Amino acid sequence: MNACLTFAQCTNCSVAMVYHTTHEALKCHYCGKIEGLPKKCPKCNSVNIRHFGIGTQKIETVTQILFPEARIARLDRDTTTTKDAHQTILKKFENGEIDILIGTQMIAKGLDFPNVTLVGIVAADTALNIPDFRAGEKTFQLITQVAGRSGRGSIQGEVVAQAYSLEHTSIQMAQKHDFVSFYNDEIKNREELRYPPFSSLINIIIANLDNDEAKKYALSLSRLLKDNKTDKIIGVLGPIPAGIPKIQNYHRYQILIKSFDLDEARDLLHKSMKQIKISHNTRVGIDIEPLNLM
Ligand SMILES: [Zn+2]
Ligand SMILES: [Zn+2]
Repeated sequence: MNACLTFAQCTNCSVAMVYHTTHEALKCHYCGKIEGLPKKCPKCNSVNIRHFGIGTQKIETVTQILFPEARIARLDRDTTTTKDAHQTILKKFENGEIDILIGTQMIAKGLDFPNVTLVGIVAADTALNIPDFRAGEKTFQLITQVAGRSGRGSIQGEVVAQAYSLEHTSIQMAQKHDFVSFYNDEIKNREELRYPPFSSLINIIIANLDNDEAKKYALSLSRLLKDNKTDKIIGVLGPIPAGIPKIQNYHRYQILIKSFDLDEARDLLHKSMKQIKISHNTRVGIDIEPLNLM
């Protein structure tokens, strides 16, 4: 069987639509658009359509088959739309009315249930695929945080993690709970590449319904930033299409200023923006010391 590997994308946003079993529909998590399941591939007309990827719903279904006796609950965006749903599920879990809780990153942080003795993480290294200098840190953090949910009571806990990039430092070190080695390795990379904490960043997102307009403004701004840059500015990167190149029909471009001095980067941006005219349709988003670069 030939697969053309076309995947369903939202027409308003350049992100994959997510399959929801409860509605038997595809949903865009950025603009909320809902579409029926396609009968055939729009590109090659094949009727062999597969639901790819491992969503929480899929895991719930499989878990139910494997453990028919277990009381299973799911904690994700879909099951927590109503007020208090989140707390209700956690309360039940705490009271032992739920045997297996399946969830997204929502359940990774800060929960303290003494009766949890086994934690499993599926696709623990998803964050490594995101173009962000913090990808390694985020992966390490996720694994160690989730792992910390297990064995908080008197019984020793176990953690099982599934990942694809097993040789990656963040996975290796997380497995050993080796914070010090992870830090030493990560801080060396950051210093070499002059990423925070060795520099300050300003992320600029230029968005317009018209792709050419967005690109034109991004190019002129970038050129000015490069022309005006002072000694303490390490570099002006871009423009490149943003990590998510289109959201709600807005085409997005990204420019990153890397600087030894944040004030100087701010002044540079301020000065450069004053030198070009901006059309009223162009939106400029400025993120000082961004926590993610999408
Ligand atoms: Zn969308
Ligand atoms: Zn196809």
